[in-house]
Amino acid sequence: MKQFEFNLVKEVGRERAVLHRLAPHLVVPEKMVLPLIKGGSLGKTMTSIGLYIYDFLADVDGADKRLMLEKDEMLAIEPLLPGEKLLGGSIYAEYRTDDARLTIEVIKTGYRHGALPINYLKCIRILEDEGQAIGAECEDQISGKRLSISAKHVINAAGPWVDQIRAMVETISGKRLYLTKGVHIVVPKEKLPLNHAVYFDVPNDSRMIFAIPRLDVTYIGTTDTYYEGDKEQVKVSRQDVEYLFKCG
Ligand SMILES: Cc1cc2nc3c(=O)[nH]c(=O)nc-3n(C[C@H](O)[C@H](O)[C@H](O)COP(=O)(O)OP(=O)(O)OC[C@H]3O[C@@H](n4cnc5c(N)ncnc54)[C@H](O)[C@@H]3O)c2cc1C
Repeated sequence: MKQFEFNLVKEVGRERAVLHRLAPHLVVPEKMVLPLIKGGSLGKTMTSIGLYIYDFLADVDGADKRLMLEKDEMLAIEPLLPGEKLLGGSIYAEYRTDDARLTIEVIKTGYRHGALPINYLKCIRILEDEGQAIGAECEDQISGKRLSISAKHVINAAGPWVDQIRAMVETISGKRLYLTKGVHIVVPKEKLPLNHAVYFDVPNDSRMIFAIPRLDVTYIGTTDTYYEGDKEQVKVSRQDVEYLFKCG
């Protein structure tokens, strides 16, 4: 919203609302606290209007719609906020997903509809006929055995590896994936004992970062930097950690 990506907010929000309806046990509202501070990039009126539009575009459920809070109310729910520069804030809903479980539920549903899910199978070559993808040659990562699968449609859903699969059949030019590294750091909860997830401005930057309490730890994240290293060996640098601590 802050970057005026209305269509993106709408698309992601509506997708999220569908998942919330289909799997309410796996996609649960997570109240986020958004403090407004003196000298920050967010003003009261703009935040109120922005979150109102966010709720509308993202199809947020009635009880989860945003609430604007006064300074005292903010300090009552989140006493660690810096009272001297706090102007007030808001509380609004993002949704937390158990992504591993959701993936398994999608696989199970696919199976019930006739799909044949196979794990640990690596695509090593796309099979083609006159320039059309007609299947894939795959290698079982446990037995090392190879097999060919033919298909009417081949979908490349390899996430950050998507261009590696594309490179099997085409020269990568023009549009390509822009990989970024998003580092989260995790501290014991007693170091940052928050009651809610807090989403805040990064000083002198258009970005925002969050701190999310979960069980006995608090997550702080994220960085968002261009990455072109080894995708299997992504490392957290001292610079990443210092950035997050400095923002907080
Ligand atoms: C630490 C972290 C935190 C994140 N937090 C959030 C968040 O809070 N909210 C949010 O919306 N997003 C978050 N993301 C981003 C989100 O996880 C990704 O956008 C999402 O997982 C992408 O899904 P995908 O299915 O496109 O790709 P992936 O989940 O990356 O799946 C790609 C799959 O392709 C497989 N693959 C690769 N090559 C081959 C091959 N040759 N043959 C067969 N299979 C292959 C891989 O093993 C992998 O399983 C986070 C990401 C990270 C790393």
